[in-house]
Amino acid sequence: MARKSIWKIAAIILGIFAAGILIYAAYLLFVKGVIETGTIVFLLLALLVLLLCFWIWQITSRIHPHVKKYYLTTISIEDVLNKVNKSESFPIELGGKPVEIQVVPERASDLAAAIIVAGEDREIDRSSTDEVITFAGHIAGFEETSEVRLTITPLMMGGYVLDGGNWWFIEPLKKFQMDAEQTDYMIYRTRDLQFKLSNKDDLVRHTMEQFDPYSLPGGSGYIGEPPLPPVDTSKHSVGPDIGIVMVADKEFYEGVKWTNTPWYIHQIKTLNEVNGLYKKNIGFRFLTKAWIMDPVSLTSSNGKVLLTQLITSVGKLWANLGLVSERMRTGTEVAHLTSGKDMDGKLLGIADFWTVGNSLGLGGVYSLSQQYIKQTLFGGADIFGNIPNLAYQDMMVMAHELGHSFNAVHEEAVEWCVTSFIICLDYERSLMWDTYYDDNKDWISDGKYRKGHDNRKRMINNAKHFRTYDLV
Ligand SMILES: [Zn+2]
Repeated sequence: MARKSIWKIAAIILGIFAAGILIYAAYLLFVKGVIETGTIVFLLLALLVLLLCFWIWQITSRIHPHVKKYYLTTISIEDVLNKVNKSESFPIELGGKPVEIQVVPERASDLAAAIIVAGEDREIDRSSTDEVITFAGHIAGFEETSEVRLTITPLMMGGYVLDGGNWWFIEPLKKFQMDAEQTDYMIYRTRDLQFKLSNKDDLVRHTMEQFDPYSLPGGSGYIGEPPLPPVDTSKHSVGPDIGIVMVADKEFYEGVKWTNTPWYIHQIKTLNEVNGLYKKNIGFRFLTKAWIMDPVSLTSSNGKVLLTQLITSVGKLWANLGLVSERMRTGTEVAHLTSGKDMDGKLLGIADFWTVGNSLGLGGVYSLSQQYIKQTLFGGADIFGNIPNLAYQDMMVMAHELGHSFNAVHEEAVEWCVTSFIICLDYERSLMWDTYYDDNKDWISDGKYRKGHDNRKRMINNAKHFRTYDLV
């Protein structure tokens, strides 16, 4: 029996018991007129227990507080992998309606990408993987209007299907219901979600003095040849493939243990989904150069402090990516931490952001997103209000923070009206909007809705021309 059902039954039994005491105490008090301290205490206690039962009932009755409606389906990964390996399509039920999915392998990591685990005792474990478990494709027969991003391992499958106007996410039911079967999956549409989360104040701003990045030491009084830099950093230009280091903290590592799937698989799954969005909007994709798990340095639950710890950790275990020469040497342009911590102020994500003076934005290198995927007592949300994040949230927040690294800003995001009656009743918003709503789009502004609001241009320009600065 599911653990949730046990809690529910316990709540009912305890509730009936408490109600009995409540009625008896009320009878003594109000009918018999026995006004004693003991009776009053019993009455209040019974009332309290009854409220507690009601609360447990409420929490155990919902799958996730952000999900209004969802569908359950059964998927045999063995069958799916058999078909995928033979380049055949396989069926998935979207809201009870079967569709045929056609996918091909799509890399989200470089060849022989490194897996680096920092140990408590300063030991560092290094390995690598060539495995491709990420896929991209379409619904068969709807090649033009649909899009699929899936991660498939023998133990886990997940991702999304964009079907015209509907955006479906597929997640193992086990994430939300502890005792669900391995073959049980939850499928939901973003339009059946309901939440509003703030992404304001997610930048750590750095300003550098105006300078010419192409100038070499010299000027009047300089004698002799200027030293040549080891690499010509002035020609540094990135894309369409962008190297990334994916970093995990201890809480993320431990939070995913219940899936029996390594931490870095969960990271690459989300990155594969982010890549779908980036490819469509600006033609870029991220390729993981290394995965780092660092339980030693990444300790703070304060976003700004954690971002500083991330810089230290990546510097120690990979490279000082603030230096353009190091980004060129390692082929790694950005680093992103998926943190399993419950962060201060309900922070969703944060990114460093550099400007020259107050005009030219340079983006940045380091960012992080909160990705709470720990399984909780009731499966859905625990008594402290911690909820495993929806995959949709993990993907959107990661994509948003990485957007800042390529100089995208809230100020050039857009919202537009989709339903109006005299006034606008329903808005939709682009990726970089500073409030993350359930119906934010997988879309980056391109000047269409508001002239001059063009985050795509900012990002492409940044990748091509403005990553020649040392951001330290
Ligand atoms: Zn932001």
